[in-house]
Amino acid sequence: MNDILTIESAAKAAYLVAALLFILALAGLSRHETAKVGNTFGIAGMFVALAATIALAVDAKIEPLGLGLLIGATAIGAAIGLWRARVVEMTGMPELIALLHSFVGLAAVLVGWNGYLHVEGNPEGREAELLAGQDLLGIHSAEVFLGVFIGAVTFIGSIVAFLKLSARIKSRPLMLPGKNLLNIGALVAFAVLTVWFVIDPRLWLLIVVTALALALGWHLVASIGGGDMPVVVSMLNSYSGWAAAASGFLLENDLLIITGALVGSSGAYLSYIMCRAMNRSFISVIAGGFGIEAGPADDRDYGEYREITAEGVAKLLASADSVIITPGYGMAVAQAQYGVAELTRKLRERGVNVRFGIHPVAGRLPGHMNVLLAEAKVPYDIVLEMDEINDDFDDTAVVLVIGANDTVNPAAEEDPSSPIAGMPVLTVWKADNVVVFKRSMAAGYAGVQNPLFFRENSAMLFGDAKDRVQDILQAI
Ligand code: NDP
Repeated sequence: MNDILTIESAAKAAYLVAALLFILALAGLSRHETAKVGNTFGIAGMFVALAATIALAVDAKIEPLGLGLLIGATAIGAAIGLWRARVVEMTGMPELIALLHSFVGLAAVLVGWNGYLHVEGNPEGREAELLAGQDLLGIHSAEVFLGVFIGAVTFIGSIVAFLKLSARIKSRPLMLPGKNLLNIGALVAFAVLTVWFVIDPRLWLLIVVTALALALGWHLVASIGGGDMPVVVSMLNSYSGWAAAASGFLLENDLLIITGALVGSSGAYLSYIMCRAMNRSFISVIAGGFGIEAGPADDRDYGEYREITAEGVAKLLASADSVIITPGYGMAVAQAQYGVAELTRKLRERGVNVRFGIHPVAGRLPGHMNVLLAEAKVPYDIVLEMDEINDDFDDTAVVLVIGANDTVNPAAEEDPSSPIAGMPVLTVWKADNVVVFKRSMAAGYAGVQNPLFFRENSAMLFGDAKDRVQDILQAI
């Protein structure tokens, strides 16, 4: 008994240490310079948490099969995690994150179902009698229901986000008739079913709520598209935190509750900040595009576009005194950042004022472009945020749009019927000359046409961004 107490209290202390390490990790990750240390804190916290959990299981003398499963699952999970993290491309990060969130959601569903089978589904069992004796059965049932609901929404929502981000399904928002009523109806049904389940915890109710949550999660994320996807990834991050916290209540695990709350609230706050940066309503995004209606099909005639060669761009750059580079997802795909850094260095040596304009959602994850440019050793002080540089395009000779599309689309400012209307964008078209690097006339992530390509001061440089940058380097 004494031993159990010692191990139990040691594990509780270890959980507290892990929670502190997770808080330090979050603090570290909030700044570029301390991000690596933050990551190390996170890894250390996870080690402590896993070690304490295994120690608790060993001490509780669970069956050898259970212990084998616990250690086996930890080893397999760690191996898969290490492998994926080593091979993932920066462009594939958001998909990987979305997929990892789906595991958290699935785990919460399984924990909820397990809780039901042990307690409500086994009324003669020791745990059920214990809870009934303390009048806590109703609370347990509510926890089961809530955990399964949030978990299933997170699970399926993350899978839809994964499919959209990896372009396995279209990123366009799904527009079912009466979609807002469907969402609200699902929430009301959930509230009614919860009360019913607390009063009379039947298996069929749990099956119904699981199916309802899966349908709602799928609909919520399928209804969100284009420019709002970054917010969805961070929202699902938040949901996965709340799902973990719900599991923590069921398993009476303080660390899961604390960690879940940390992830849940930081994810929600990040989503809020992103919505503000993109001029989107937070409520509308989390409610699955509430209030956003489908725009008319775009069959407008945008006119002719001009093409330019790498030599032509080299000539333009030779006579320019100021250049702004606005990178986007295409730079990441082409891995063009090293060539871009080299071009920047050469131009700066000739006295050209070269700066970068970074849109908050350029690429496929927050900070994507900053990471790539830092990797290629572009000096921090010439990498500016959208708000810092947007007033300077007027006085700029040449803008190089390298693999960006939605983030430089004038329709966001000028066309109220555009699906990305209202999203702040880099106003590149105000410069004297704009060169757009891309492989075709295809649309960007949001699937909308970009009138920038047809402006008189714009010219298209077709081809892979990395190859074209090399061609320019050779030509100058
Ligand atoms: P976009 O996705 O709008 O456009 C990327 C462009 O790059 C495309 O037009 C594509 O054209 C071009 N491209 C692709 N590969 C290459 C290549 N090898 N060489 C040259 N060009 C290439 O990018 P933006 O960065 O402007 O915008 C980001 C979009 O992603 C926004 O809609 C944002 O909402 C969304 N998003 C952002 C997230 C974030 O957190 N940052 C997360 C999820 C979504 P082509 O095929 O013709 O070459």
